[in-house]
Order: sequence, then structure tokens, then C-alpha cells
Amino acid sequence: MIKKVSVIGAGTMGNGIAHVFAQNEYDVTLIDISQEALDKAVATITKNLDRLITKEKISEETKLATLDRIATMTTIPEGVKDADLVVEAATENLDLKLKIFKQIDEAAPAKAILASNTSSISITQIASVTSRPEHVIGMHFMNPVPIMKLVEIIRGYSTSDKVTQTIMETSKSLSKVPVEVNDYPGFIANRILIPMINEAIYSLHEGVAGVSEIDTVMKLGMAHPMGPLQLADFIGLDVVLAICNVLHDGFGNPKYAPCPLLVNMVMAGKKGRKSGEGFYDYSTGSKDWIVAKTFC
Ligand code: NAD
Repeated sequence: MIKKVSVIGAGTMGNGIAHVFAQNEYDVTLIDISQEALDKAVATITKNLDRLITKEKISEETKLATLDRIATMTTIPEGVKDADLVVEAATENLDLKLKIFKQIDEAAPAKAILASNTSSISITQIASVTSRPEHVIGMHFMNPVPIMKLVEIIRGYSTSDKVTQTIMETSKSLSKVPVEVNDYPGFIANRILIPMINEAIYSLHEGVAGVSEIDTVMKLGMAHPMGPLQLADFIGLDVVLAICNVLHDGFGNPKYAPCPLLVNMVMAGKKGRKSGEGFYDYSTGSKDWIVAKTFC
């Protein structure tokens, strides 16, 4: 029975994951090496809860009870020592994740399930540095976590049926829809999404069409809520590039090679919305895209 959840990493995903668990009556410990990230996460969760009050989806009491269930901490061993479930949502970096999982494995109770929110790193590889690979699983929430219904549940090579079942049920208790997939590069979501985005970037790079034309075709023609280039800006171009590289390395197939324009933009620090510029210009501080640049 899962009651206490520790979330590691209080960034974009970590604050959303902590929010949904706490709102669904789990006790949450949110852990980050940065106190600033923790403060920002609590402020974001508060703001998102306020928005739910305005929309009359929750009461003031629910907001206060949700915030009350979230404790924050800056050290992993202390933060996971009573956990039934640990959800790691730290920076997407293989060496960092392996280090964190070794630490969690040493400090968390033997029965605890260890999950990673990684977008692209092998769950089997992460599990291999722990003493409990059958208790390690992928719990891939989508951004923004409080809104998106899907959780991609990734079974590593050794993940047990019982652990998979528990995590499927736990995801449903958050009013999410879990989908079980096996552990191969990109899982399902990013194996399909990222090559589409990369192809959109190639189309731009080769001068087939401009930014707004490509996005308009996919929005109005394919009923996508957001065009692939705007979505790439939203995800972060550095993240898109990292996942392209995982697919390319993992399958050894040139069809996954990242477009040189994507590589250039990341090297130039143009990472999309978070850096103020990607395929669109966000420099005015507006959430919406302003100027469609021309790359061809
Ligand atoms: P982020 O950069 O917003 O946040 C990462 C946080 O991890 C930072 O606050 C950082 O201080 C913290 N951190 C780094 N090292 C740490 C350590 N040793 N201990 C504790 N905290 C540490 O990143 P994000 O976008 O929230 O991504 C987190 C994870 O979620 C990644 O694995 C990413 O692939 C995955 N993911 C991201 C998205 C997305 O759209 N951003 C979607 C799905 C999955």
C-alpha cells in the first residue's frame, strides 16, 4: 500500500508530480539539491492550486490540505527513508540518475518501489545499479503534470508483475490513465513524437516551408493542438536533441540522426521557451509565440 511518496527533483516535472500526489492524499516529500528550486516549486504548486479554486474545481480547504501534505528537503537519504514510493524527476543525465538511484537504494526501505520519470534513459540500466531491479520502474508523466492524463508505465527487463500492477493502480488513484510499455529506446511516446519533430526541423532546414507553415499544416491538417516546432520549443530543444541521440545510439539507425539545425540551435543556446528563443521568439515574456523566424 503506497502512502508516502518522495519526489526527487523540484523542477518543471517534480513540482507537478508532487502536486498531483498531494492533492490525491498521499504524503509527499519533495527533495532537491537547490533550496531555490524547492521554494519556486512550492510557489508554482500554490499558484496552480489557486487557479483550480478560481475554476471552482477545488475548495480553499483542499488547497491548504494539499500544501500541508508536502514537506521539502535538500538531502536524499533523509527524504526517502520512510518512502513507500520514490519518483525521481531530476535533470535528464545518465550519470546523475545512476548516482541518485544508488543513493535511494541505500536509504529507502527495502520494500519501497523506485520509479523514474525519465523521458529517454533505459529503466533497465537505472535498475542495474540498485539491489532491487524488480522494484524499479518507469513512471513517465507528461508536461504539465496536473493537466495531462497519460502516465507511460515502463517495465524494465526485471520489473516484477506485482510492482507494475501497484504502479498502474497508483496512477489510476491520481485520476491518470496509465499505459504499460516495455523498456526500449524512447519507450512509445518519444519513439513516435521525437522523429516527427526532427522531421519537421529537417523540413524547415531544407527550406520546404517556414515555421508557421509547418505548424499550421500539422495543427489544421492533422488536428494536433500544437504544431511540432512550437511543441519542440515547449519541451526544450536541448531535451529534444538528447532524446534524438538516445534513439540514434539505441537503434543505430541513421533515420534517427538529429537535424544539424537542431544541433546548431542547442549549441547557440536557443533552447526554446525556457531560454526565450527557439523556433519562436518569447522575449516579450508572453506565453504565446510572437514572431515566426525564417531559417531557410
Ligand atoms: P528541470 O531541469 O526543470 O528540473 C530538474 C531538477 O532536478 C532541478 O530543480 C535540479 O535542481 C534537480 N536536481 C539535479 N540534481 C539533483 C540531485 N542530485 N538531487 C535532487 N535534485 C536534483 O527538469 P524537468 O524538465 O523537470 O525534467 C525532470 C525529469 O523529467 C527528466 O528526467 C526529464 O527527462 C523528465 N521529463 C521531462 C518532461 C518535460 O516536458 N520537461 C516531460 C516528461 C519527462
